[in-house]
Amino acid sequence: MHWAEVEANELGEDPLIATGEAPSGPIHLGHIRELLTGEAIAREADGELILIVDSIDPLRKLYPFLDDSYNEYIGRPLSEVPCICGEHDNYAEHFMEPFLESLEKMGVDLNLIYAHEMYAEGEYAKATRIVIKKKDEVAEIISSKTGRELKDDWFPYNPICSECGKLGNSVVNGFEDPYVLYTCECGYQGKADIRTDDGKLPWRCDWAARWWILSIDCEPFGKDHAASGGSWDTGKEIIKKIFDREPPHPVIYEWIQLKGEGPMSSSSGVVVKTEDLLNMVSPEVARFLIMRPKPNTHIDFDPGFGLLDMVDEYDKYEEEYFEGQDKDMKKIYELSQIDEVPKRKPLRIPYRHLVNLVQIYDDYEKMWKVVTEGEQVGSQGEAYFERMKQRAKSVEYWLENFAPDMVKFSIKEELPDVDLSDKEIEFLKEYRDSIDDGKWTSEQLHQLVHENADAVNLNKGKAFRVFYKILLGQNKGPRLGRFLSQLEKDFVKERLEDAIKV
Ligand SMILES: [Zn+2]
Repeated sequence: MHWAEVEANELGEDPLIATGEAPSGPIHLGHIRELLTGEAIAREADGELILIVDSIDPLRKLYPFLDDSYNEYIGRPLSEVPCICGEHDNYAEHFMEPFLESLEKMGVDLNLIYAHEMYAEGEYAKATRIVIKKKDEVAEIISSKTGRELKDDWFPYNPICSECGKLGNSVVNGFEDPYVLYTCECGYQGKADIRTDDGKLPWRCDWAARWWILSIDCEPFGKDHAASGGSWDTGKEIIKKIFDREPPHPVIYEWIQLKGEGPMSSSSGVVVKTEDLLNMVSPEVARFLIMRPKPNTHIDFDPGFGLLDMVDEYDKYEEEYFEGQDKDMKKIYELSQIDEVPKRKPLRIPYRHLVNLVQIYDDYEKMWKVVTEGEQVGSQGEAYFERMKQRAKSVEYWLENFAPDMVKFSIKEELPDVDLSDKEIEFLKEYRDSIDDGKWTSEQLHQLVHENADAVNLNKGKAFRVFYKILLGQNKGPRLGRFLSQLEKDFVKERLEDAIKV
């Protein structure tokens, strides 16, 4: 059974599945795992997916991508910090927008909740009152689970100073329901109304309160929260003992690592943007990255050659879906789709072929002619053409931004200035004379290199190399048989003639 089905079986009817996001900076690819894990479970369990944005959390420091003007906003809720580009209502929305757009492209259907709005609308009031009244019990849970003593003046509510706007810089002096009385570091003495966004619960209490307020049944979260003494350990005790409710069903996931660089993290700069992934592969393949492995296994993402392997794998699962029997593979393919599974097996042009094709042709119509040579595309022609074009565009983006240099080449329009030995010229003549005999296929064209090299007694390595010399002006190139078959026959013949004449 697929992992999403296993998790869904743990849940009751119409479950509510929650995910969270703290938009303190650009949201990288690593974050799609939480959302897509939750979404897969929601699909399998017929549940609802929500995304709670921690928009009332403070700006913690001057990140490298911020200018000095943001110094004065450190400590203020993200919803109160100005947007960087000026086009969004606030800092949180600025970073959420591209992430939400990517999720939409991947077909993720969710309800978005901003935490600062929940507070502003009083949704936390009841939970906050309970936590404050049971403050000693809460403190006992936190210190016993984390093994650290809380300070004597610890209080389970962080007021936002109404003078300096900062969160977490004040000492609480008392609680006069519904007001928390505080003295801020800036010297201001004030009171925060727990029925509003005058302040918030500390994270460990906030998380548990949220489960209770929204009746959350399931939540995927990163393994950092699941560490011993982490917020999951305290959260599940708080919800049981303070709110008298069972914790949601947890789904703990591992990180997405950038191959050879460790876990993706904005602060270490080890990052691929979600937008980049979606520029390189279809949204279905992006989903496949998450749907295939179990959540508790880490994902090694390699935007170089690994990207080609990933698309090849997806194509293999697609083949299995239409032609094979493997139930798990079929389920993974289904969960990778945005809507319904296509009715017929789509025509696929492997990425590895397109890597050559987009470097040979700058015209999609011509590319299409080469690709469909000898194929029956029938009435699906138009749709297939569009699909090829989409893939070609993705491959172009990959070549420009992430591909290793060794796959890049350009066809020389004229015969490059090359020195060929008599034997090499003899070989090319034989080759020219033989290509009309068979089909214009990669196997045939490859085979002919061997046969003709044997015929004139030319070293095989040299025989392959001579093609790269006359076509690309270099000693290396893509796998020759396929490469030649992707070129137009007349062009190859003409280039052979030119080389032989020299
Ligand atoms: Zn203050």
